[in-house]
Amino acid sequence: MSATPVVTRFAPSPTGYLHIGGARTALFNWLFARGRGGKFLLRIEDTDRERSTPEATAAILQGLTWLGLDWDGDAISQFERRDRHAEVAHQMLARGTAYKCFSTPEEIAAFRAAQEAAGVSYAVFQSPWRDADPATYPDAPYAIRMKAPRTGETKIVDTVQGTVTVRNDQLDDMIVLRSDGTPTYMLAVVVDDHDMGVTHVIRGDDHLNNAARQQMVYDAMGWAIPVWAHIPLIHGPDGKKLSKRHGATAVGDYQAQGYPAAGMRNYLTRLGWAHGDAELFTTEQALSMFGLEGIGRSPARLDFKKLESTCGWHLAQGEDAALLHEIEGYLAAAERPALTPNQRDLLFRALYCVKDRAKTFPELLDKARFALTSRPVDIDEAAGKALDAVSRGILKELTLRLQSASWTKDALESILTEVATAHGIGFGKLAAPLRAALAGRSATPSVYDMMLVIGQDETIARLQDAAA
Ligand code: GLU
Repeated sequence: MSATPVVTRFAPSPTGYLHIGGARTALFNWLFARGRGGKFLLRIEDTDRERSTPEATAAILQGLTWLGLDWDGDAISQFERRDRHAEVAHQMLARGTAYKCFSTPEEIAAFRAAQEAAGVSYAVFQSPWRDADPATYPDAPYAIRMKAPRTGETKIVDTVQGTVTVRNDQLDDMIVLRSDGTPTYMLAVVVDDHDMGVTHVIRGDDHLNNAARQQMVYDAMGWAIPVWAHIPLIHGPDGKKLSKRHGATAVGDYQAQGYPAAGMRNYLTRLGWAHGDAELFTTEQALSMFGLEGIGRSPARLDFKKLESTCGWHLAQGEDAALLHEIEGYLAAAERPALTPNQRDLLFRALYCVKDRAKTFPELLDKARFALTSRPVDIDEAAGKALDAVSRGILKELTLRLQSASWTKDALESILTEVATAHGIGFGKLAAPLRAALAGRSATPSVYDMMLVIGQDETIARLQDAAA
């Protein structure tokens, strides 16, 4: 099989943060290209000079980077390509698929008013210059308009939405180059996609209407039309259009809330795409499974519970060094204090016994509190109840036995069992004061795991503190 290599792109407008819907669009494009040995390109659609900001561009790049969505080459600025867009508009003039229109805004408004007066509710402007003889052109500024077909239909063959038919008499002779010489968005997108060699346009279905007009530009230039895939938007859990009232909509917020990137990728992949009953998968698996045929036609609903359980699975699967690295990224993103070198060490050692119990990094750090805290351990009220005179006595005795213990699980187990037996209590009765002493709370990893992670000296010191 040697088809044209796949080239996809993500084309955000840098007017705000990276929205979760945009991130999902980027992810689908990335998966589709990378899973086929193709290219994934990034184009910043910064032609709206008033609303585009470098901060927004930086936030978008940061969000993509956090999600692990790497792009080929440098991000392309649409604004910087404006001369090329103008050049194509002039090529269309030369080909006769566009024309110079000298109509003034007043004339266009008058046309509309006349149509309205005649009872035409939606009037497509019909320029008198469409078929005018160039000999009659005034020496005045002009816009370049497409010579749109007036009869027949335009068919958008969309991989997700099926074939969408638009009547050509509803398409106006849209402007591609304004009279001030600036290109319009509709032209810029097509020229860029063409020049970038984009084979598949995967984007939100809010752009489906644009596709018919953009297809006109491809036709006018005799360029190959890309494969269209317009994906339904993401809705909130209540089925309404996603908004801030449903929760975080910015990708950066998910990072700051401590969701692991791998879990986020998995969850977003499943949001509006399915492959059999695959729910939990690695990125490698997603790359081999992902295809446009699996994209659903109705809007996907954000489900925070599912996001959490997906993230929990990924934390449990995570490789310790990578998790530690990501936790440090989370702490920075959340503006929480960084780990000290000692805490870093201890957390690394504790990961094996806490990572399968947490869904987010703050939860994981909370479970790892026994490793991150320092003496004197702050003991909560519930756990403190286990520290009565009797149990304090037992802890004191235990500290003596632990001084000479070899620090392995087996050795610790036999010491604890012996001490419990000697006092005629079950292991549970011994574990409660131990949990209080070591972690200051009653829900903790196993006492052996805690003792092994924090080590002999620290264990003994904490037991002594609690026994005192
Ligand atoms: N810049 C557009 C947006 O942010 C995307 C255009 C496109 O993908 O063609 O919605």
